[in-house]
Amino acid sequence: MILFKKCDQLKEHLKQLKVKGQIVGFVPTMGALHQGHLSLLNASVSAGYTTVCSIFINPTQFNDSADFHKYPITLTDDIGLLNESETSILFLPDVNEIYPNGFEHPRYDLAELDKTLEGKYRPGHFQGVCQVMHRLLEIVQPHHLYMGQKDYQQCMVVDRLIKILHLETVLHVCPTLREPDGLAMSSRNIRLTPEERKKATAIFTALTYLKENIQQCDLSDFIKTAASILAQNQLKADYVEIADAHTLHHITYRNGNQKLIALIAAYINEVRLIDNMALN
Ligand code: AMP
Repeated sequence: MILFKKCDQLKEHLKQLKVKGQIVGFVPTMGALHQGHLSLLNASVSAGYTTVCSIFINPTQFNDSADFHKYPITLTDDIGLLNESETSILFLPDVNEIYPNGFEHPRYDLAELDKTLEGKYRPGHFQGVCQVMHRLLEIVQPHHLYMGQKDYQQCMVVDRLIKILHLETVLHVCPTLREPDGLAMSSRNIRLTPEERKKATAIFTALTYLKENIQQCDLSDFIKTAASILAQNQLKADYVEIADAHTLHHITYRNGNQKLIALIAAYINEVRLIDNMALN
């Protein structure tokens, strides 16, 4: 694996590889890597692509500065995992490489996507995601981009960004990897105490309850029951939502043909976790 810290050097290296006909797959991350990240890298590696992983904790997507300062950093372990995964290139820029002109950026038109769910509870978050993804996509210019369904709304936002920018990059949304008890793997799980870690599985329990009982008529009662599963485990929900999987619009009545998704964001003390599950 080759490590690059400078944008220009990475760009030049990738240019040479592309001239030779190599196809580039890209997995952007914020580090503290786990098997979920590795599954994205593996999707690119096993397709035979030159695989670039970036590790950059993007300050502009954190609406809560405490969350930014406490974001886990495990670089030595990350490099060990990346070497095992046959990733070709690690891009490890510092903040001045990514934002040489400061944090100002154009406003991206995300329609309703940055006003609902994560957009509503984390103001500015998706504008920051677009800012860093715009820059990273400009530097790496990948043929293929791999992201996790775990961040479902983020995948929709990046899909929209790719369209706004008229890029030819193909976005692949990969399944969520879970711990044996169902908890979605997340870099933030490291911050949970053993007791909090046990309670965190209530998110998976609530999503599974929604999936198994989606045929119920009264969706609002049904959502209240799922929320009570979280509350019984001392989780404080930002939202428990059933939405149209294509638009993320709130669903009040089921219409048999719609593809639905359940989404949850909840705090366990100071740690905020998100997860989702396709319902049909
Ligand atoms: P992050 O480092 O949290 O920004 O995540 C980097 C990428 O890994 C994003 O595309 C995430 O959606 C994806 N990812 C995070 N957790 C998982 C997981 N449990 N399973 C699959 N992909 C994941």
